[in-house]
Amino acid sequence: MPSPIQVTQSSIPPYEQYIEEIKDLWESYWLTNMGTKHQQLEQQLANYLNVPNISLFSNGHLALETALSAFNLSGEVITTPFTFASTTQAIVRNGLEPVFCDINPDDYTLQIDQLESLITDKTTAIVPVHVYGNICDVKEIERIANKYNLKVIYDAAHAFGITIKGESVANFGDASMFSFHATKVFNTIEGGALSFREPQLTSIFNAMKNFGMTGPEFVDYIAGNAKMNEFQAAMGLCNLRNIDEEIKKRQLVFERYMEQLSEIKGINLPFIQQGVKSNYAYFPVVFDQYKFSRDEVYELLKEQNIFARKYFYPLTNSFKYFGDQFNPDDTPVAQYIADRVLTLPLYADLALDNVDQICNIIKGGCLR
Ligand SMILES: *Cc1c(COP(=O)(O)O)cnc(C)c1O
Repeated sequence: MPSPIQVTQSSIPPYEQYIEEIKDLWESYWLTNMGTKHQQLEQQLANYLNVPNISLFSNGHLALETALSAFNLSGEVITTPFTFASTTQAIVRNGLEPVFCDINPDDYTLQIDQLESLITDKTTAIVPVHVYGNICDVKEIERIANKYNLKVIYDAAHAFGITIKGESVANFGDASMFSFHATKVFNTIEGGALSFREPQLTSIFNAMKNFGMTGPEFVDYIAGNAKMNEFQAAMGLCNLRNIDEEIKKRQLVFERYMEQLSEIKGINLPFIQQGVKSNYAYFPVVFDQYKFSRDEVYELLKEQNIFARKYFYPLTNSFKYFGDQFNPDDTPVAQYIADRVLTLPLYADLALDNVDQICNIIKGGCLR
């Protein structure tokens, strides 16, 4: 059996580069609490993402939870069920009620018409997701948010480094959350960040990731611990040096899949939206009246030691802990896509030969 191929493989710098980067920590004895590496990474990321303010976190999920908490929201928050568990958990763990809006059938982001119809006098925020790096209709979301005085916090976990018509996605909404988890395009082992326009949020976020403390003798907020440590930041500094190269390599894999799978009836391929500079994070394929179902393709690949993932299935509004609180039939497009989508392996070092093998298995041809 050939060695397994997972849906992704973490980008890591050459070993010596990381060792060199963490050497100073043996001299400074400063391992966390916003040390030198943390400050350097914040600065470099603000630069790279072209955003005025950024705050680092121990992971993306706690960054999102903290953002929702910092805006003092109450009542209902409109969001998508077609996402990773984290998005919905962050809303519910803040004592807020998620209201699920359906998605577009082509880019899987929030359906704008339905979004506006779901707003009630209890709505205080919108949490859209740039799913797979497809960018939401940010202009319309901004218009609606202004009209009803709502906060907008983007889950941009998939959207690192993406620009639309030259503008960084990190600049949309009141805040955007990025995930730097090991499986994401840019990683700090575990990690995450908030980007935001209002500079006065900096001190609030800094306090809220450190037990709400604004000084050694002052606690101004109810908050937990979500600080990124120096070893995580050091990994980020190393990975950021190679990020453009990594994205270029991802692009080659993406394009090979497109070549191999285009014009096959029943296989709907991802597309790059107009004006978008992509990060090629994912290759989601929708099997719709193809000769094999999504689950059959998943099994065929698994038999050959290739592990695609059903991102995103099940929908978050059908999670068991909600019981019958929500009805997934209310978001029929999301349900349709969740039942048919499969995310194929994609990472910078995936060999193009392996892409060809994966495509041959999907086409029902030769084995690996
Ligand atoms: C990865 C991910 C998160 C959570 O980020 P972590 O850094 O793993 O905590 C949130 N939302 C989406 C859509 C994600 O893919």
